[in-house]
Amino acid sequence: MLRKKIFFGSRSRFVAIVSFWLLAGSAVAQLIPQTPNPLSGSDSSSAGCSLQASCAELAPGMIKSAEGPSLLEANLRYLTETIGGRIPGSAANQKAVDWAVAAFRAAGVTDAKTESFTIPVGWSEGATSAKIVAPETFEVRLVSTGWSPAISESGGITTRIVDVGMGDAAGFAEAGDSARDAIVFVHQNLLESVDELFAEYTRAPAIIDRASKAHAAAIFWMSVQPGALLYRHTSTPGGGVLEKIPQAIVARDDAERVARLLAADAPVRVHFEMPNQVGGPVEAKNVVAEIRGWDKPDDFVVLGAHLDSWDLGEGALDNGCDASMVIDAARVVHASGSLPRRSIRFVLFNGEEEGLLGSRAYVEAHRGELDHVIAAIIFDSGSGKITGYSTSGRKDMLLPMREALGPLEPLGVSGFTLDAAIGTDNFDFLLQGIPTLVPDQELANYLSNYHASSDTFGKVDIVSLKKQSAIAAITAYALADQAQRFAPRQTRLQIRELLSESGLEEQMKLEGFWPDWQNGRRGRQP
Ligand SMILES: [Zn+2]
Repeated sequence: MLRKKIFFGSRSRFVAIVSFWLLAGSAVAQLIPQTPNPLSGSDSSSAGCSLQASCAELAPGMIKSAEGPSLLEANLRYLTETIGGRIPGSAANQKAVDWAVAAFRAAGVTDAKTESFTIPVGWSEGATSAKIVAPETFEVRLVSTGWSPAISESGGITTRIVDVGMGDAAGFAEAGDSARDAIVFVHQNLLESVDELFAEYTRAPAIIDRASKAHAAAIFWMSVQPGALLYRHTSTPGGGVLEKIPQAIVARDDAERVARLLAADAPVRVHFEMPNQVGGPVEAKNVVAEIRGWDKPDDFVVLGAHLDSWDLGEGALDNGCDASMVIDAARVVHASGSLPRRSIRFVLFNGEEEGLLGSRAYVEAHRGELDHVIAAIIFDSGSGKITGYSTSGRKDMLLPMREALGPLEPLGVSGFTLDAAIGTDNFDFLLQGIPTLVPDQELANYLSNYHASSDTFGKVDIVSLKKQSAIAAITAYALADQAQRFAPRQTRLQIRELLSESGLEEQMKLEGFWPDWQNGRRGRQP
C-alpha cells in the first residue's frame, strides 16, 4: 500500500491498534439493545481518531470489528420492523431520517446532518380494489403503481378490460379502438433474472405511451412475481411526478385467471377503484455523515446507500440492509482509530425508488465540489455475497482499483468488471464523470422479494451483511487513503464515449433519461 505517514513507531502502533479493537469491541457489546430502539441509552463516545495507518494494516482489525458484536442487526430490525416501509413524504420516512442521524452519532460519527431537497409531487395509495363483474364475478388482488394518478371518479369506474398482449405496437394495433376508455391488460414474464428486471423497466415507458395515446382509462400489469405476491414500482424517469395514466399491478394468480377469460374472447368487465392521494411538493432529506481526512479533507469518497423504500414490505433487502450497513461501516472506520488522507462521506440517499432523486439532488447541491469527489461507492443489491465491483464501463479504473483494494482479497472480493446499468444512486455521479463502484453481488433472494410485500427483515442474511460492512469500510478507506487519486474525473466528452461504449446510452434512451443528459439538465455541463 502507498500509505506511509505514521505518527507512531511501528511497535507502539501495533499495540495501539489492538487496544482500539478491544475497546471498541467492549463498548459495542454494552450497546446491544434490550428495547426495540437500539439507540436509546447508547453512548456515542468511542475510540478517538489519532492514529494514521494504512488500509492494509487496518483491514484485519476492520474485518474483526465488522464481524464481531455490533448494532447492525438491531439497527436493521428497528429500521424495518419498527419504522417499516419508507416512501418519501410519509411519517415513516421522516422517522427513518431522524433515526439515521442518531444512528451515525451512536456509531461515533458525530458530524451527521440532513440535506433537504424537494420532490415535486407527494403521493400515497388509497384503498385500491377491483372486481371482475362479467363474464364471472371475482375480486382481484392488486396495488397501484407508485405515483400513479388516482381513478378520479368517486366510487370508481366500471369498464372493459382489453388484452394488449405484451404491450408492444402489435398488441395495441390488434386492440385498436377498443382500448379507448378501457383498461388495457399487459402480460409480463415472471421475474427470474436481472435481464428480465431491466427488460421490465426499459419496456414500460413505451407501453405507457401507447396506452396513453390509445386513450385507455388505465393499465393493469400482470405481476412479474408468482402467486399472490404484490410489489410496487414507478416507471417515470423524471421521478417524483405523476405517471401519465393510472396503473395497477395485478397479482399473478388473479391476472392469469383474467387472461384466461380474455383468451376466451368473452367481454370482460371490471369495477375498479383507486383513490390515490396526490398532493403538492414534499420535502425529502438525505442523511450525510463525515469522517474528515487528515491530509486533504476537502477531497472525499462517497459511501452510499438509499434509506427510502417502497411500502408494501419493510424495505429490508431493498435497501434497509445497506442503509444500516453504511452506518456500521462508518462505525468500523471510526473505531479503527485511524484517519484516511481524504474524507469519507457516508450518505443515505432519499427518494431513490422514485427515480434516483436524492443522489441527483446531492450532486446538484454539491456541484461546486465535484472535482473533489474521488469515487462514489453505492450498495443496493441486498445481502448476497459480494465478489467484486463493477466500474460501469470504465477500463481506466480496473488496474488501480485492483491495487488499492488488495486488502479485500481475504473477503473474496477480487473480481472487477465493466458491467454497467442504470439501477441505483451511482448514476448521477457517473454522469458527472466521477468514478463509481457498484458491488458485483450474488443475487441470493433479492429478486424474489424485489419491491414486494415479502421484503422483510427475516430475508436479510446478517452474517453476510456484516461482511459487507467490512468490505464497504475497507473500500472507502482504501480509496480515500491513496497518495494520488486512483482515477480521474472524466470530461463530458469522455462520459459521452463511456455511455456509448457501455450500452448505457441505449438504456437511457429506452427509459427516457437521454434528453436531460443531452440538453445539459443532468450530468456534467458541456
Ligand atoms: Zn434499491
